[in-house]
Amino acid sequence: MGRRCNLSLSPVMLLFWFASFSLVNGKTNLTRPSVTPINRDLYHTSDTLMEEIKALVHRHPDKLYMEVIGSQNKGYRVEMTVVTYCRNRKEIDDRSKYRVLLSFGQHGRELITSELSLRILSILIGEQFLPNMDPSSLNNTLERFVIKMVPMENLNGRKLVEAGDLCERRNGRGVDLNRNWSVDWGKKEKDYDPYEENPGIAPFSEPETQIMRKLCVSFEPHIWVNVHSGMEALFMPYDHKNTTPHGSPAQRVRLMLENLNRLHCKQRCVVGSGGGSVGYLAHGTATDYMYDIARVPMAFTFEIYGDRTGSSKDCFKMFNPSDLTTFNGVLNDWSAAFFAMFNMSTHELDVLHSKISVPSLEKLVSIDDYLNGYLMERSSRYGKKKEVLELGMQEIRTYFRLFLLSSVLLMFMFCSRISKSRRQIVSGMPL
Ligand SMILES: [Zn+2]
Repeated sequence: MGRRCNLSLSPVMLLFWFASFSLVNGKTNLTRPSVTPINRDLYHTSDTLMEEIKALVHRHPDKLYMEVIGSQNKGYRVEMTVVTYCRNRKEIDDRSKYRVLLSFGQHGRELITSELSLRILSILIGEQFLPNMDPSSLNNTLERFVIKMVPMENLNGRKLVEAGDLCERRNGRGVDLNRNWSVDWGKKEKDYDPYEENPGIAPFSEPETQIMRKLCVSFEPHIWVNVHSGMEALFMPYDHKNTTPHGSPAQRVRLMLENLNRLHCKQRCVVGSGGGSVGYLAHGTATDYMYDIARVPMAFTFEIYGDRTGSSKDCFKMFNPSDLTTFNGVLNDWSAAFFAMFNMSTHELDVLHSKISVPSLEKLVSIDDYLNGYLMERSSRYGKKKEVLELGMQEIRTYFRLFLLSSVLLMFMFCSRISKSRRQIVSGMPL
C-alpha cells in the first residue's frame, strides 16, 4: 500500500519529502548524539531499589537495621538511607567486632555501584549465595563484623541522572561529593574541570558529606570502601598525592589488594594510590579523609567497572554495564571480591590489633607506623583534635595572607605619601 502511494507522488513532491526528511534527521543528529539509555530491564530506579532494600530489612529484622538520616542547608534537602548488618542484631554495639563502612553511589551516574550494594546485602542475609565460597567459613567471618552500608549516598544527583542527565556525577546542587572533604580541599590541578569537580564553597559544605562524616565519627570504622565506577581499580590512599603511605602496614594492605586483583579482578584492576594511578590528583576526597583524619586503618576506593571504548558523552555505557552478561559478571565478581576482602582483612586487623594490645610487641613497630595512622590507639585514633587543628591551620593561613596583603598595601600607601610630600618640598624649593 505505502509503496503504491509513494509511486503516485510527483517527482517534485518526492524531492521535497526527501529534503525535509534529511533536514529533520540532520537536526536530530546534531542536537542528540546517540547515547545509550538506562537499561531498565537490568537496573532498578532509585525508588524500587530502596523498596527492595526496605523489604530485605523487613524480612530480616534479626540481622538488619535501617535508618533514614535527613539534613538540609539553605533549602537544599537531603535524605540518606543507612543499613546496618550484624549477624546477631543484639551484638550491634559490641565493640570487639570489626566495623566496616561502605558507600555506594557517591556519583550520580554510577548506577551499577548501588546495584552491587543490594547484591551484597542479599548475600549477607543469606538470600543469595556466592559460588565457590564455603558458607560456614563465610559465617565465621561475618560473625566478627558489623557492616554499615549507604546504598545511595547521592540520591539527589542520581534523581537528575534518572531524569535524563546521564553524565551528572555531582549532587543535587552541582557539588562533587568526592571533592568536598577537608584533606587538601579546594586545590585545583592544571586539568581541573569545574563541571566535574566543583568542591563546594568550603569543606563539608554539603549535607551529604556532613552526614557521612557524622557516620564515620560515631561508628569509627576499621574498614572504609568508597565504591565507584569508570574504571577497574583497587585504590588505597593517597588521592591528593602520587604516593601510598610508608611503612609495613601499608605494604601489607597493598599486598592484600594485589591478592584481590589476582583472585577476583583477573589482574585487570589497577592497584595502588588513587593519585598515582588514576591519571590525575584528586583533592578533598573521602578516602583521604578517612585515612588521614579519621585514622581508618584500611581506607579504599574500589572502581568496579568502566568502558572507555565509546564516546565520552555516552555516560550510561561508560560507567555501567549495559548488557545482562556483563551486568551479572560485575555483580558476581565484585560481591565475591568484597567477601574475600572481609575474610582477608580480619587477619590483617588481628595483626594490627595484637600489635596495639600487647605492649611488649609495640617496640617492634616503628614510630613512623604509628604516625602513619595504622596503629593509633582506638581511644585517640579518631584524631578530632587533628581535624580541628587542620581546619584551624587553614584559617590561620588565610588570615596570614590577608595580613600580608594589607601590610603591603599600607606600606605602598605610606611610601607614596612620603614621595608625594617630598615632591611637594622639592617642587616648592624654587619658590
Ligand atoms: Zn565516581
